[in-house]
Amino acid sequence: MKNYGIIEKYKKYLPVGQATPIITLNEGNTPLVFASYLSKLAGENFEIYLKCEGANPTGSFKDRGMTLAISKACEEKATAVICASTGNTSASAAAYSARGGIKCIVLIPSGAIALGKLSQALIHGAEVLAISGNFDTALELAKEISLKYPVTLVNSLNPFRIEGQKTGSFEICDYLGDAPDFQIMPVGNAGNITAYWKGYKEYKTGGLSKKLPSMLGFQAEGACPIVKNKPIKDPKTIATAIQIGNPASWKSALEARDESNGLIDIVTDNQILEAYKILAQKEGIFAEPASAASIAGLLKLIKNGYFRKINTTNKCKIVCILTGHGLKDPERAIKSVKKPKLLRPNIKTILKEIGY
Ligand SMILES: *Cc1c(COP(=O)(O)O)cnc(C)c1O
Repeated sequence: MKNYGIIEKYKKYLPVGQATPIITLNEGNTPLVFASYLSKLAGENFEIYLKCEGANPTGSFKDRGMTLAISKACEEKATAVICASTGNTSASAAAYSARGGIKCIVLIPSGAIALGKLSQALIHGAEVLAISGNFDTALELAKEISLKYPVTLVNSLNPFRIEGQKTGSFEICDYLGDAPDFQIMPVGNAGNITAYWKGYKEYKTGGLSKKLPSMLGFQAEGACPIVKNKPIKDPKTIATAIQIGNPASWKSALEARDESNGLIDIVTDNQILEAYKILAQKEGIFAEPASAASIAGLLKLIKNGYFRKINTTNKCKIVCILTGHGLKDPERAIKSVKKPKLLRPNIKTILKEIGY
C-alpha cells in the first residue's frame, strides 16, 4: 500500500526528486464545503465555500508545508529540526519528525499556546521548551540556533513550507474548475497568504486555471502589524495562532495583497468570537478562533458593502480558509457558551428543562 499525500499528488509543482524520501501522513485533499447559511447572507449572486484545513492529519494546514519540510530535511540527512510556534507548527513538526525519525525541538511562548496543540507536540515526543517571551522572540532564537548548529529551521521561513502550503490553492482550483473570485484567510506570520498566492499564480501560468483571486487577509485588532504598518511589541488576541507582532513573510504578504488587488484588514476579538459561534452553530463546522477570523472578515466585508461593487455575470465565488480545527482550543469553546446545567437524574426535571 502506498501512502498518498500532497507530495505524491502535486510532485510536478514541488521541488522533489528520486532521492527525496516522502514523509507523509496523507495530508491535503481537505473538504471544500459549500456554506449555505453564509452564502444566503451574502446574497443571491454569491457562493461561499469553506476550505476545512482542520481535516489535515494534525488538525491544521501546517501539515501541507511540514510534509515537504521534513521530507527535504530527511533527504539532506538532517538529524534535528527546530521551530518556534504559536502551537500548530509545533504539533505538525512533532508528528512529521516522529514519522521521519528525526529529533524535533520546539520553542513556544509560555502560556500562549492552546492546550490541544501543546498536547500534540508533547505526545509526539518533541523536546518542548517554553520561553518567557512572545512568539516573535521565540522565532528569533530558533533562527539563531539553526544558523549556528546543525538543526534545520522548519518555520515558514523555510521555503519548503511555502512550497507545500501552496497545494491548498491547487486543490481549490481543481475542485471549482478555476480559481475563486476572492479568497479570505487569517494572517499571522503571513506564510500562508504568501503560499496560496504563489499557488494560484503557478496554476494560472501552467494553464490549469484562468482567473486569479483577490487575496483578502485578516489580522486580529490586537496583533495587526501589517495593517498598522509597524511591528507590534506585545501582540494580544484570543486567536493565539495569529498572535504575532512581526511577521516573517511581511513583504510577500504585501505583494500578495497588491498584485491581487486585495486587502489586509483587521477584525476584533469580539467579531472573531461571534464568527466562531456562527460557524459552529449555523454551518456545523468547529474551527479554531484564528480560522474564524476568515469568517469575521467575510461578515465585515458583507456589512460594509465591499462586494457590492463586484460586477457579477456568473456567481461570485468566495473561498474562506478555515486554517485549524476547533478541538485545538477546547478551553475557548467552553468559555464561549453556556455551561451544561446540572440536574437531578429525574425524568420530570429533564422534561421541564427541554420544554415538554
Ligand atoms: C499558523 C496559523 C495561522 C497563520 O498562518 P500564517 O502563515 O502564520 O499567516 C492561522 N491559523 C491557524 C490555525 C494557524 O495554525
